Amino acid sequence: MKKPKLLWLQSISCNGDAHSFFNHPDFFSILSNFELIHHPLLDTNHNFDELLAMELECDILLLDGSFRERGFSKGGIEVFALIEHYAKKAKWIVTVGTCATFGGVFKEADPENISGFCFDKEEKTSRYDTYASKLISLSGCPIHPKWLSYVLIMLLKKKKIPLDEFHRPQELYATTVHQGCTRNEYFEWKIDAENFGLKEGCLFYEQGCQAPYTHGSCNKILWNDVSSKTVSGIPCFGCTEPTFPKTGLFKTKTNMGIPAKVPLGISKRAYFTATGVVKSFRIKRFEKRLIDYDN
Ligand code: SF4
Ligand code: SF4
Repeated sequence: MKKPKLLWLQSISCNGDAHSFFNHPDFFSILSNFELIHHPLLDTNHNFDELLAMELECDILLLDGSFRERGFSKGGIEVFALIEHYAKKAKWIVTVGTCATFGGVFKEADPENISGFCFDKEEKTSRYDTYASKLISLSGCPIHPKWLSYVLIMLLKKKKIPLDEFHRPQELYATTVHQGCTRNEYFEWKIDAENFGLKEGCLFYEQGCQAPYTHGSCNKILWNDVSSKTVSGIPCFGCTEPTFPKTGLFKTKTNMGIPAKVPLGISKRAYFTATGVVKSFRIKRFEKRLIDYDN
């Protein structure tokens, strides 16, 4: 069987997504299913000049980094022109990371001129209609390596990938990051962690955890097969959403004890009622440290 041709093109990027994918435990085995045409950090059979000559073929185009239409060039060629050329040739376009998908952190440097490839935060860019039929978005800062391998293998096997409104695979982004967190019991009983890194407590109120508003499967498909931010005691920053990067992190704003923004899909009334009930109970088990290191 002919291997699909894979092309990784980079625009304004920190290399974080490429490095994150390198951490995939099956990195070489996954890549062995593809012919890697070009990668910004790996040796391939085609050099950069051949890429710039725009003569290479590609089946799957992986885009990494934020876009600006003018004023960002490599080898004397506007990177954007290079990307548009290969985007037209490719059967599939996968935006790898929040920068390529929504604009991400680099958009902050020049919000008027920098965006994602097909989305500018929540808005569609002028390119959306041209590429929507072959677009798959993988937001995350950086990308979860197994989310990318999921998409590559599904494309290789010619399987359908159901997508959400931003073209993110539902298999990976249908739930919030809150689902599967080991701290859910503390969330239910409104017991908060007093600091980062503790084993006990939820990080929602006192540490501003964004997971109840954030789509992703960080607590379903663990990072490095081991853990996640919230499991290890660091609040989620909401990096898969078009609104990333956010300000005002590390504390959830409340109004009379109710968060100004309640978890996705829950009415304020329902949240207020449930919170009122659970806060009227004291659960002794949650008052103790889980592990007594002093004895
Ligand atoms: S999405 Fe995050 S990891 Fe990827 S290029 Fe942007 S800043 Fe770097
Ligand atoms: S720490 Fe975050 S993800 Fe975990 S239960 Fe609390 S709000 Fe949910």
